[in-house]
Amino acid sequence: MFISIKNVLYDLFHRDSIKGLNLYSTITCPNCGYQNKEHMPVNACVLDYICLNCKTVMHAKEGHCCIFCSYGDVDCPGVQIEKRNENRF
Ligand SMILES: [Zn+2]
Ligand SMILES: [Zn+2]
Repeated sequence: MFISIKNVLYDLFHRDSIKGLNLYSTITCPNCGYQNKEHMPVNACVLDYICLNCKTVMHAKEGHCCIFCSYGDVDCPGVQIEKRNENRF
């Protein structure tokens, strides 16, 4: 077995790109108002989320990439990276 150097470099780059990102978002249920702090995955979009209190299934709103953008108080990691890149240039 050997470790691919490409994977190592990607891992380093990836770790750097998520540095300073806020990976926790408080989701507010539109039905009952129940709030729950959730960890946001960096490499995946969460499109559905079930309220732990009333079991309402939330879907990402149109034009939003994920439920965190629709119902969370913090932009998802993908949007945070996008905004950061915008500011850099
Ligand atoms: Zn609810
Ligand atoms: Zn999003």
